[in-house]
Amino acid sequence: MSGNKKDALRALPSVEVLLQHRVLLDAQGQYSRSVVVGAAREILAEIRREILSGRNRFLGSLDDLAEAVRDRARRKAAPVFRRVLNATGVVIHTNLGRSVLSERALAAVQRAATGYSNLEYDLEVGARSTRQQHVEALLTEITGAEAALVVNNNAGAVMLLAHTLAKGRDVVVSRGQLVEIGGSFRLPEVLTASGARLVEIGTTNRTSVGDYEAAIGPDTAMLLKVHQSNFIMSGFVAEVSLRDLVEVGRRHNVLVIEDLGSGALVDMTELGLPHEPMPQESLAQGADAVTFSGDKLLGGTQAGVLLGRQSVIGKARRSPVARALRIDKLNLAGLEATLLAYRDVRGAVSEIPTLGMIQRQEKDIEASARRIARGLQRVADQLEVSLETGRSEIGGGASPAVSLPTLLICIAPVAMSVRELAQRLRAVDPPVIARIKEDRLVVDPRTLLPGEDDLLVEAVRAAVEPADLAGRPDAGS
Ligand SMILES: *Cc1c(COP(=O)(O)O)cnc(C)c1O
Repeated sequence: MSGNKKDALRALPSVEVLLQHRVLLDAQGQYSRSVVVGAAREILAEIRREILSGRNRFLGSLDDLAEAVRDRARRKAAPVFRRVLNATGVVIHTNLGRSVLSERALAAVQRAATGYSNLEYDLEVGARSTRQQHVEALLTEITGAEAALVVNNNAGAVMLLAHTLAKGRDVVVSRGQLVEIGGSFRLPEVLTASGARLVEIGTTNRTSVGDYEAAIGPDTAMLLKVHQSNFIMSGFVAEVSLRDLVEVGRRHNVLVIEDLGSGALVDMTELGLPHEPMPQESLAQGADAVTFSGDKLLGGTQAGVLLGRQSVIGKARRSPVARALRIDKLNLAGLEATLLAYRDVRGAVSEIPTLGMIQRQEKDIEASARRIARGLQRVADQLEVSLETGRSEIGGGASPAVSLPTLLICIAPVAMSVRELAQRLRAVDPPVIARIKEDRLVVDPRTLLPGEDDLLVEAVRAAVEPADLAGRPDAGS
């Protein structure tokens, strides 16, 4: 080892000495001793590694070092679960938490969280009741379904139906519909876990009424239609319509169930978008039950909604699996408040952020893009910024073929790679998640919430400014 390196290593203070620095004495009061010790060890180890690799000679003052440790401690003390800015333009982004709640839903969640509630209590009778009371009537009113039930999520809803209606028996599914949805929902695996037997029919691209007819036997309990959600097939393709499937089911006295995935409660064509399957329509066409998510196009909290015939939903309700998959009170409160907006279609679009973002006007997006580009002029020496038309996605398995016109802010960093910029943007507070396209970072304003334009500008500014001693930028607490 060179003398230089030895000297540099020797100049590093010990953790004990560092902890006596006034900045870190304060930090220990604020973030706890163990967090500050951990941060000090990390920073010292990183600097030691850099010295040994010849990339760094410790020359900062003790004050700089203490501040770097304090900043690291602040980050370590912060909750792991954090708010982020969604600059991807994917409205229903499963990895980023899907739907943002409406104010009404937020208020309902807060009420349910901070006080006792009539969760399972009938206020009129003064006796025990079911938590389903809060959404059952609303769901049947909005959709015209005979009966409704909500559980933890849509994967749970599908599993519950397969378990109650088809355990130990056959569920017939077209090979074109054996989907995998992000977050490791694989339809065949969910069916197997429910205790039902999966009977695959048709081919990847074509399934006919005859395929269903041929597969039906004494053990068949259910014909399951699954919304393809996140992919499209074109070319030489054929699927059996729900109407035809219902006819087959009736002829053979077998239940027909549809997993709608996203399930739009408003007609998407009224929003100028291609048609998305609606539970109301599926039930009108004769499906015995349908299931869909609460936090996709519905725009509410995580939930699995089951709608259908009383005979089918009632069975599911009485299953012990329904108890295992029950919805929690916060999600239930948020779901009821979200559903209330659907009594009036216009109301839903103006109230529910997910629908609002899908509907967001181009001129509004453009204003946001220009404002961000203007804000980035302050760091014009670090970035090349341009505006380009592009497309946003709905995501969440809704309308995979549909994209929405948008205006993108394309950012090419001057002094670092685009990957480095993306990584730094994930390290600021709040972290920014954006797309990379070739050698540019692409920001789509569609999915930024009111007030987040400025936060995004601040984040980019912090990311391109010189890094602190710990090698990471910090946009402040
Ligand atoms: C998203 C989706 C699911 C899973 O729904 P979760 O609410 O995430 O459990 C199931 N089936 C289809 C077709 C989907 O699109």
